[in-house]
Amino acid sequence: MAKRGNAIIKGIEIEEVIRLLNKAYADEWLAYYQYYIESKVIKGIMKDAAIAELDQHATDELRHADMVAQRILQLGGTPLLNPKEWFTHTNCGYETPNDFDVVAILEDAIKGEQCAITTYSELAELTREKDIVTYDIVSQILADEVEHEEDLQALHDDITEFVDSIKGKL
Ligand code: FE
Ligand code: FE
Ligand code: MG
Repeated sequence: MAKRGNAIIKGIEIEEVIRLLNKAYADEWLAYYQYYIESKVIKGIMKDAAIAELDQHATDELRHADMVAQRILQLGGTPLLNPKEWFTHTNCGYETPNDFDVVAILEDAIKGEQCAITTYSELAELTREKDIVTYDIVSQILADEVEHEEDLQALHDDITEFVDSIKGKL
């Protein structure tokens, strides 16, 4: 089976898989930096719990970037070489944290994870039973993104309930 260039694996063009993986690669670096900087600037109630979660997610996003880059190379492609390209290729964009409050930051991060879940669900759909190695990688990442979204949502709900309970006592 051909592997390189404009080759086709079971009906999907490798060039198209590489193009979509590079878009996901841009997303991972932007997600990594967003978590990294949010964990530095975040303020407000229960921020230590949020920082622990943001730092863990930053580590995961960087690991995802590495997994995606390795697969692009295996397919004969080149991962984006210039950070400027992250902004032209990204699916999920970058939310500059203008409001440092813990709840606002968690809400931005939840949106980012929902976008990542959509991206990897589509990649899994495209590669299922066609490019098994890519399918396996994007499925592993998808499971992490689902866990990220759930963790952030649980923390968001804990914090907002706690704030509401305090308000109720005032
Ligand atoms: Fe990720
Ligand atoms: Fe994530
Ligand atoms: Mg987590």
